[in-house]
Amino acid sequence: MKYKRILLKLSGEALMGDLGHGIDPEVVSLIAGQVKAIQALGVEVGLVIGGGNIFRGVAGATKGMDRVTADHMGMLATMINALALQDALEQDGIETRVMAGIDVPKVAESYIRRRAMRHLEKGRVVIFGAGTGNPYFSTDTAAALRANEIDAQVVMKATNVDGVYTADPKKDPTATKYDRISFQEVLEKNLKVMDAAAISLCRDNHLPILVFNMTEPGNLLAAVKGQVVGTLVG
Ligand code: UDP
Repeated sequence: MKYKRILLKLSGEALMGDLGHGIDPEVVSLIAGQVKAIQALGVEVGLVIGGGNIFRGVAGATKGMDRVTADHMGMLATMINALALQDALEQDGIETRVMAGIDVPKVAESYIRRRAMRHLEKGRVVIFGAGTGNPYFSTDTAAALRANEIDAQVVMKATNVDGVYTADPKKDPTATKYDRISFQEVLEKNLKVMDAAAISLCRDNHLPILVFNMTEPGNLLAAVKGQVVGTLVG
């Protein structure tokens, strides 16, 4: 196994399948199955889930909402997704804890780093909900932050494309995929990997990011085994 502890970042959109909005239980259960497969091999899994399938703060602010209120709504949206994932994982027999970046004690544990580490050591999947707990941030940044905090060896950024390309492969047929690329190059070329705050947090702390296609079954397993999947940024 190449990685013993990972931080998997899923966007909210990963949960909606073809629905266009909200949560598709079948898709969530497929994701749970993939997590189960790596957890069964002893990989410790932290998960950060986005909320874009339900609400994004920026969208609310564009329509005139107060940005901070809109971001609070976005963070609560990630909590809804976190609970959906927890439910699917537990139905699959995987012990799971949701830890929230904003306090919702009737719903989930508050995030406490040492407690999160303990859950991971005990083999529980830990879902970090509510992002960083602060407005103006993204769940990509939350993924970079939590990954550093829990000493994950890699941030695995699940997407629906194979990795990072020289250009948008949908617009430019000559675009090629990088197997490996440095943080510097990603920032200089403004390649869409994660937002700049997340990238610099990983770069400054030498934490690699693997961008890979999780809609391809078996990719997560292959990636933790160290097979060449997606693009490794580091
Ligand atoms: N959010 C926030 N602080 C954070 C993480 C998220 O305020 O640390 C809010 C923000 O409004 C964001 C929303 O939660 O738009 C959903 O997260 P994100 O857009 O990162 O979700 P994704 O694009 O991954 O589905």
